[in-house]
Amino acid sequence: MEIFTGQNLLEFAERFKTDLDCEEYLAFIKSEKCYCCRKCGHTKYQVRKDLSRTCNICSDTESPSSGTLFHRVKFGLRKAFFICFEMSATTKDMSASQMSVRYGIAENTARLFMHKVREAMKSGENDEMTGTVYVDEFTVGGKEENKQGRSYDTKKKKVICAVEVTGKVKRFYAEKIKDFSAKSLRGIFDKHIDKSANVITDQWKGYRPIKDFNIIQIPSNNGQNFPVLHTMIHQVKTWIRATFSWVSEFNINRYLSEFSYRINRSQSKKTIFNNLIKRMVGRKPVYQDKLVCS
Ligand SMILES: [Zn+2]
Repeated sequence: MEIFTGQNLLEFAERFKTDLDCEEYLAFIKSEKCYCCRKCGHTKYQVRKDLSRTCNICSDTESPSSGTLFHRVKFGLRKAFFICFEMSATTKDMSASQMSVRYGIAENTARLFMHKVREAMKSGENDEMTGTVYVDEFTVGGKEENKQGRSYDTKKKKVICAVEVTGKVKRFYAEKIKDFSAKSLRGIFDKHIDKSANVITDQWKGYRPIKDFNIIQIPSNNGQNFPVLHTMIHQVKTWIRATFSWVSEFNINRYLSEFSYRINRSQSKKTIFNNLIKRMVGRKPVYQDKLVCS
């Protein structure tokens, strides 16, 4: 089987006409990974007619979608594949309510599945940024949306972001932080920035205690000294405001993962859908209680 490439919706619809086409694709993606029985750990299996795999020792049988983020998708794999395609290969962002109308599923069902897709988009944190990296904090939500820099309005969500720049944006990561203390700011350094990088920040004192990274602090001059970084921050804020009427504290990291994933893969749009499906298959199922704030 060949992987699906490209961004053409008609080709996509032609390739995935039925739930079974999608099931076959998942079985193909799974077959690229080594099999290991989930019950007994045995590595030999037989493929059944319905594409599920049965362990040669204990006879445990798993369908192509089981053990993946497609596990128990009630509205059918084909719709799930289309949502994955929309969220990765297209450039237009859609909200859960738009997705629900387009695919004839309940809005909440769409929202929960889209959160699963965002889980798959979350960075594996194994490829750290090097070279020149800009780091800055910003806030989303609440009033004074366009104000630059740190804000102490408690209704706003605080976010830290890092941009690796090689003339243009190479990679972008962002995450929610509790406050602007050194301890909170440090998280993104440990997850995404290599110790060899030249990190540039504004003159906020919160960065000073982070001594094991090479940090250069220069005046931000209201964002003018960090044009690429501020364009990115503007894009995230605009995207969040336009697509989601309300972003909860609980889910903001998921939206930031989606945004970063799309930015970081914008050079490889051809294979982005296949990459996303591989991630959906590689991640363990996430249950509803982990997706909504109780
Ligand atoms: Zn087994």
